Amino acid sequence: IPVRGFEGRKVAVLGLGRSGLATARSLRAGEAEALCWDDNSAARDKAEAEGFTISDLSRAGAFEDVAALIVSPGIPHLYPAPNKVVALAWEAGVPVDNDIGLFFRSLAGGEWDEFDAPPRVVAVTGSNGKSTTSALIAHVLEQAGKPVQLAGNIGRGVLDIDPPDEGGVVVLELSSYQTDLARALTPDVAVFTNLSPDHLDRHGGMGGYFAAKRRLFAEGGPDRAVIGVDEAEGQYLANQLSEGLGDDRVIRVSVARKLSGPGWQVFARKGFLSEYRKGRQAGSIDLRDMTGLPGAHNHQNACAAYAACRTLGLAPKVIEAAFASFGGLPHRSQTVVEAAGVRYVNDSKATNVDSAAKALLAFQNIRWICGGLEKEGGLAGLQDALGSVVKAYVIGREAAQFAMQLEGVEAEVCTTMEAAVTRAVAEAQPGETVLLAPAAASFDQYDNFEQRGDDFTTRVRAAVTA
Ligand code: ADP
Repeated sequence: IPVRGFEGRKVAVLGLGRSGLATARSLRAGEAEALCWDDNSAARDKAEAEGFTISDLSRAGAFEDVAALIVSPGIPHLYPAPNKVVALAWEAGVPVDNDIGLFFRSLAGGEWDEFDAPPRVVAVTGSNGKSTTSALIAHVLEQAGKPVQLAGNIGRGVLDIDPPDEGGVVVLELSSYQTDLARALTPDVAVFTNLSPDHLDRHGGMGGYFAAKRRLFAEGGPDRAVIGVDEAEGQYLANQLSEGLGDDRVIRVSVARKLSGPGWQVFARKGFLSEYRKGRQAGSIDLRDMTGLPGAHNHQNACAAYAACRTLGLAPKVIEAAFASFGGLPHRSQTVVEAAGVRYVNDSKATNVDSAAKALLAFQNIRWICGGLEKEGGLAGLQDALGSVVKAYVIGREAAQFAMQLEGVEAEVCTTMEAAVTRAVAEAQPGETVLLAPAAASFDQYDNFEQRGDDFTTRVRAAVTA
């Protein structure tokens, strides 16, 4: 997608990973000159090989004649310490934006004028469930025969996508790292799944983290808002939005209780989803056939996806059928194999306490592989979810310290995945579940959570067939 509005001007691009390079290409397609920089020389070489201008953005005067700075989501700009390049741009009065902001800017700038009906954009944010909810929305739309593009934090960089065909929808997963700096955030439908502590070091605490996510719902933001109200922050957001947008444009979602009131609500109880509008039932579907998405947390994702699809005009029956054919995403409550009556589940994506707690609540008789790089705030909030744990097998460089915090649970310090899988496979009894749900980041031992999940999967497969 070409980015317009910078013709003949210089635009600085900081960070030359996938989204940075896509940004530089889109700027070039829009006839702007991209000045590229990355601290990593291999990344710079890649950009140079594509013919982009490399310019050290950290030197004094780097922002003379520069129209904007586009920052990659992976780069912390304010906390724990201000980024030097970003600070220089601020000082020079240069607007700081990211690829998401450029995407919405192109959308508003007539880039999609060739369509009689430009694509609608659904954006999903929240602490957990973003990928699952986004993928589920895209799956339902596809099943309903609509052209769909899934992009953002999941799948492709947003500037990398091909505009979907006439009448299509772009589904964007947006992390707080992306909503934070984007100067334009104007989706047609915005979804807020839930809020729990994560990435606090990057946002200067919970307030900054919530503020980053809330930007998606700022004035001039979505036409329709879908808000998970099972935390106080969600309730607060929904109430504020109802005042501004009106009751008919805010859909409240809960898996904790039956919602009521004059507005629009979607909630799940005992495997059934209900939709109410203006005090009347407007739809209901059975969630029990949704085998690819186990656990109450996935009912929350289903409610949010259902609500988003309803705002796009889909019928409950169509959504119900599509839910049943959704296979789930890898590394999220994914059953790897069942052997000798034991189920092995990969939830490597449970990188924070809340997601691990939800995974633990979705299964019974659990041999739990956990540990890794602990997040700020420690394991507070996990205690209530430990009731089904038979035994914990703790991995990670700080495994001993992690194990000490697991009160009332038998915990073995294994340190490596190899040891943890070997022990868990040897000890698991029929009817039990061996669950990888680390409640921690993976970076002490792996490049990312996918690599950790793959390691678990490979070792489990080898061990159960041995
Ligand atoms: P995100 O993209 O927000 O990280 P994912 O869908 O990838 O969300 O899920 C991340 C982790 O959180 C997984 O471990 C998953 O099992 C768990 N999870 C998924 N949905 C929810 C939810 N609604 N609430 C809490 N945890 C969830």
